[in-house]
Amino acid sequence: MVTQNIDFLHQRAGSRRVIAVHGDYWSSHCLDCSEPFELSQIEELLRKVDVPRCSCGGLIKPDVVFYGEAVRDLEPAAAVVSNSDLLLVLGSSLTVLPAAFLPEQAGGDVVVVNRGEVGLSPGPRRFFADVDLDEFFGEVAEHLGAS
Ligand SMILES: [Zn+2]
Repeated sequence: MVTQNIDFLHQRAGSRRVIAVHGDYWSSHCLDCSEPFELSQIEELLRKVDVPRCSCGGLIKPDVVFYGEAVRDLEPAAAVVSNSDLLLVLGSSLTVLPAAFLPEQAGGDVVVVNRGEVGLSPGPRRFFADVDLDEFFGEVAEHLGAS
């Protein structure tokens, strides 16, 4: 799974092989000495101060990719996508670069499910559903006899 989400929900839901190209806020680090911090430590610091700082005095930043910073693990993400038989792009307008380029590298069929326009041009192995994800997967479950 390749995600742009930073909320760690895929991992908490049980997904084991997640490439979070925009990082996540589950961990943080000191901008001066690189000391790592877990979310629970940050939560504890935020009960006492508005801006958490390391014991060295440096600012602590969540391990989330900010605008202007390099995206993480783009090469492994591209490898997963290019080796896929079927790529599901779910709930993304495909407008945030460079992750938006990943579907261009898909080795198989691409199914994009997103409400509204997406930044991927039509192609022979590309399928688009302009619909809400809950509605889409409700119909899939119905077809599979799961509801
Ligand atoms: Zn520090």
